[in-house]
Amino acid sequence: MAYDKSIAAFEEAYKVIPGGVDSPVRAFSGVEGTPPFIERGEGAYLFDIDGNRYIDYVQSWGPLIFGHTDADIEASVIDSVKKGLSFGAPTTVETELAEEIVSMFDSIDKVRFVSSGTEAVMSAIRLARGATGRDNILKFTGCYHGHSDSLLVQAGSGLATFGTPSSPGVPADLTKHTLLATYNDIESVEKCFADSPEGIACVIIEPIAGNMGLVPADETFLQQLRALCDAHDTLLIFDEVMSGFRASLKGAQGITTVKPDMVTLGKVIGAGMPVGAFGARAEIMAQLSPEGPVYQAGTLSGNPVAMAAGLTSLRKLKANPAIYVELGNRAKKLVEGLKRAADSVNVPMVTDVRGSMFGFFFSDKPVRNFADVMENDQKLFAKFHKGMLDRGIYLACSSFETGFISTAITDEMIDETVKAAYETLKEIKA
Ligand code: PLP
Repeated sequence: MAYDKSIAAFEEAYKVIPGGVDSPVRAFSGVEGTPPFIERGEGAYLFDIDGNRYIDYVQSWGPLIFGHTDADIEASVIDSVKKGLSFGAPTTVETELAEEIVSMFDSIDKVRFVSSGTEAVMSAIRLARGATGRDNILKFTGCYHGHSDSLLVQAGSGLATFGTPSSPGVPADLTKHTLLATYNDIESVEKCFADSPEGIACVIIEPIAGNMGLVPADETFLQQLRALCDAHDTLLIFDEVMSGFRASLKGAQGITTVKPDMVTLGKVIGAGMPVGAFGARAEIMAQLSPEGPVYQAGTLSGNPVAMAAGLTSLRKLKANPAIYVELGNRAKKLVEGLKRAADSVNVPMVTDVRGSMFGFFFSDKPVRNFADVMENDQKLFAKFHKGMLDRGIYLACSSFETGFISTAITDEMIDETVKAAYETLKEIKA
């Protein structure tokens, strides 16, 4: 495949945009080659400016569960655009989307819309701190909750370490209130509680972690986490920005029996437009301005075009929940094929699937936390990624990301992908 135009476009972008990209992972730093510059998407495919076509398993990092250019979503966006782009005033479409979300999540009585997942989590944390009157929060190593200061905390090596900032510009005074525990390890959480006599406002977790590859939390672990939070009057936040409407219609909450106190959403609820949301029981949400004292706001929050896209997407999903069975079957077919390809050249691989989310690691042991993730063969992944891209398969450009199946991806496309995996791995191992 030729990438000449993309390479030139990347050089141009570099001159005026740091690293040439508006979000670091897009720069392909963890893999070989430079990023294709995308001209358009259609159904399951992406087309770059050199005219190359790819089967897209990234889907804008999750939002596009119906693939690109879905006719219904497109029509609702165009209809909304014709009425104006933004009003900064209440619209009925916000209430309609809120009603859909509330109807699908038992844990949510009220929801507020923002413009990104980062904003959703940042606001949820502020609300949890405001509602409990406590400063400390607890997150898990390897879980990503957006790039707000309190949550941008480096993975600590030990259990229950107080967080240190992972980026210059984040004051240590802020992250000292962020405690770190190990995913799927309840003892590390117990230690955090024991070390915090002043209390913990909230525990935030990706119940299906998707930002260290795909690493689901054990049911027992989530139950123990719920019990610990109850015992300490600490709020449990499920960050379902990625898993919401992806793992199932109810996100992770359609899979686990554990109910969180608060939920953050994003990605699919905007269908590709910038939307995030956070919700909780009515008494918690009543703490939020203007009902309560905890301030939170946004010029473009609940933007009507974004709401229209999200509403169409969620109604389509609700009308046909069997979609998740189909997506799950395709995801399983894909990872089973990838595993067979890896077996054929004696390369160890572990895989997992949750609804339309799939993950694979070049690793020979089960992956349950970030330390396990770090043991996967990242050099091999980088080569694999390049070989797949050259064969028209667009995978996430990091082994710390999750893959996504859209309704536009067919069984034949999965077969094509598996064939490409056989060829790529054979070439690498030759
Ligand atoms: N939370 C989770 C679980 C995410 O996966 C992400 C983004 O990938 C975020 C929060 C941040 O969302 P955004 O990138 O829309 O700010």
